[in-house]
Amino acid sequence: METKIISGTEISTAIKDELKDELERLSITPTLAVVLVGDNQASKVYVSNKEKACHQIGIKSMSYTLPADSTQEDVLDLIEVLNADKNVDGILVQLPLPAHIDEHKVIQAIDETKDVDGFHLKNVGALLVGTDGFVSCTPAGIIELLKRSNIDVAGKKCVIVGRSNIVGKPMCQLLLRENATVVMCHSYTPSLKEETQQADIVVVATGKRNIVTGDMIKPGAVVIDVGINRDENGKLCGDVDFNSCQGIASWITPVPGGVGPMTIAMLMQNCVRAAKQRRI
Ligand code: NDP
Repeated sequence: METKIISGTEISTAIKDELKDELERLSITPTLAVVLVGDNQASKVYVSNKEKACHQIGIKSMSYTLPADSTQEDVLDLIEVLNADKNVDGILVQLPLPAHIDEHKVIQAIDETKDVDGFHLKNVGALLVGTDGFVSCTPAGIIELLKRSNIDVAGKKCVIVGRSNIVGKPMCQLLLRENATVVMCHSYTPSLKEETQQADIVVVATGKRNIVTGDMIKPGAVVIDVGINRDENGKLCGDVDFNSCQGIASWITPVPGGVGPMTIAMLMQNCVRAAKQRRI
């Protein structure tokens, strides 16, 4: 069987082009406030990629960089100012925060109508009960990848490996919403292989390199790799052993160029939506 690549790079470019056109048509310029605390190198790269995407599609991004020794109050005060600022449509706090700051408190302080990451409990709850709200960008991006590749989800058996609040759990809700049968696996799952071998669609989000290999998937399965790891040569790789899935999977996402760019595209989509709700 030929294994086809789902290109997140191509699909995310198409989505960003659509958003750019929409903003031009509506003549609005959304504003995204990005809060970075400290000087975590990976966070800086993520923030700069997000700012670049904003620039590409016509979103104004405003960066707020606080020193690593900022207090929780400092961060909460800034969030309060951004919540009250009528010109700010979306607020993003780049995680992780320094250990002395309570991430949960900071995220819950964000006005839920500006919570473009979809992490506020009101948005998490909305996803759970199926009402409108902002959805976590990575799982939302995976649904877009599947839809735009014409991969049918209804009635399919989906196995998700990883149960984090930002990927695995919201992924489960979104796949349920698309009428899939969903199995959640985690570090206590006794035989991961037994589960993944039964899946029509496997979503892997563990941060463990090569946790899923070709012998663990059913012929014809769709394999979505969320992981971001480095191999022994420092090269970026996912959680799935990409090569051993060739000829077995029907579709697979590469790393890089798969899920990663979709996360940013969905962030842009959430910003546009927040601005439309506020301004139109
Ligand atoms: P977390 O560390 O929060 O969660 C990892 C999950 O994997 C946990 O639920 C854990 O189980 C599970 N797990 C760990 N080891 C095993 C195992 N041996 N068998 C089964 N399950 C296991 O990670 P995130 O969800 O935040 O991220 C996962 C990966 O995705 C990372 O590489 C991250 O960098 C990447 N990522 C990529 C994004 C993108 O845009 N492409 C966005 C977000 C994340 P348990 O709960 O039992 O501990």
